Amino acid sequence: MTDIRRIVVNSIDDIRVEEIPAPAPQKGEVLVKSTVVGICGSDMHAAHGRHPFMSLPFWPGHEVVGVVTEVGEGVSESLRDQRVVIEPNLACGHCEQCLQGRYNICSTLDVFGCQTPGGMTDRFVIAADRVIPLSDSIDDLWASLIEPLATPVHAVRRAGDLSGKRVVVFGAGPIGLFLTVAALDAGAERVVVADLLPSKRARAERLGAAGSFDPTLSDAAATATELLGGHAHVVFDGVSRASTVALAIDVLAKGGKLMTVGVPAGETPIRLDLVQDRELEIFGNLMYVREDVLHAIDLLERRPFPIEEIVTATFSLEDAAKAFAASDDSEQVKVLVTVP
Ligand SMILES: [Zn+2]
Ligand SMILES: [Zn+2]
Repeated sequence: MTDIRRIVVNSIDDIRVEEIPAPAPQKGEVLVKSTVVGICGSDMHAAHGRHPFMSLPFWPGHEVVGVVTEVGEGVSESLRDQRVVIEPNLACGHCEQCLQGRYNICSTLDVFGCQTPGGMTDRFVIAADRVIPLSDSIDDLWASLIEPLATPVHAVRRAGDLSGKRVVVFGAGPIGLFLTVAALDAGAERVVVADLLPSKRARAERLGAAGSFDPTLSDAAATATELLGGHAHVVFDGVSRASTVALAIDVLAKGGKLMTVGVPAGETPIRLDLVQDRELEIFGNLMYVREDVLHAIDLLERRPFPIEEIVTATFSLEDAAKAFAASDDSEQVKVLVTVP
């Protein structure tokens, strides 16, 4: 059996191509040949040793598009040769949350490419129910954005009906930009985006934000409400630091919702007195379920923005180390690794 290449991340300065024996699908599994793999903010946090739930070394790739090349025992032959996107949440299927359909918060959730070896490789095996066939109306490049869009779509769904609502998004990286796109698609009346960098704020405006501001300025909350034409009904926080939570509480209308989407770095103080007095609601948001993935596919099939606004660099598998280095540049949005 021939060997395959797989990327291992020992640290941000030590990312290598390793050779391992080609895997074979067991019962209920498929063998997938990777075509496009995205690098995520969580991959970067992990590579820098700063991710709370990922340890080094790790084998990345949870934003994966590929083709099923072999099917294991008991798997439908119809999957063979199918282009697919991977749904990387590996849930137990029988805990209380799984039984309620909320398997994104499975009591023993693992994520493919985070806690288990992922798709940044020539070929990998995965349970057949973790692959979603793609139609011809979405190509591999657009399909690589399905997984990163699914988390924002999930948070937007949990925020309830956004039609006519004023929305603030914190962060104009991939998550913040996709929160903006998803909130506008869900009918938000105005979306205003906060980010430190003018170039990132400009990109958010090109993707439909009505305005943007620097959250570190002393008048940030006043600027936000001015741009919005009132206090916000919903804040999506893609940053999740003490400073953004404080600003969220300042810009929210009474009865508003704070949707925590970014991964906080640890304990994060919050003005609970104001949360209580203003009857604010705070929602944690973790990944997504199949419904959100299908919604993300539907949204991307409409090609709602010029793809070069999001996909800013592409490297081959051999150059994965360069791809990670490029991802460290805040001017990059989504860096992809292709497997020719
Ligand atoms: Zn990710
Ligand atoms: Zn479970």
